[in-house]
Amino acid sequence: MNHGSFISSEQLYILGKENTFTSRAMVKDYLSGDRIQCLCCQKPYTNLAAHLWRAHGIHSRDYKRAFNIPVCAALEGTTSLEQMRAKLKSNPKAIEHSASSTVGPLSLRAMR
Ligand SMILES: [Zn+2]
Repeated sequence: MNHGSFISSEQLYILGKENTFTSRAMVKDYLSGDRIQCLCCQKPYTNLAAHLWRAHGIHSRDYKRAFNIPVCAALEGTTSLEQMRAKLKSNPKAIEHSASSTVGPLSLRAMR
């Protein structure tokens, strides 16, 4: 079975030189879809970080460095982020906690 090809740091460096992002807008556009295209094999993935590691043996940190993507950027499509939020919503305790910490009685009074 072919799970993709491992990419050496040298190959990643060459790929990065050819496809590097030159502006924040380009990075934002690249990360905005519900799937993120792998710049190594050109296929879209919902969780690119996991794919990079499994298929190419690349750590997401090295991938970001090669393509000039901010380290803080998430290599996950918007769908999986939505799913994460939905998971949080289905946990009432987490909501209670976040609601009381962000909008307490004091800030409600202050808004009036
Ligand atoms: Zn790939």
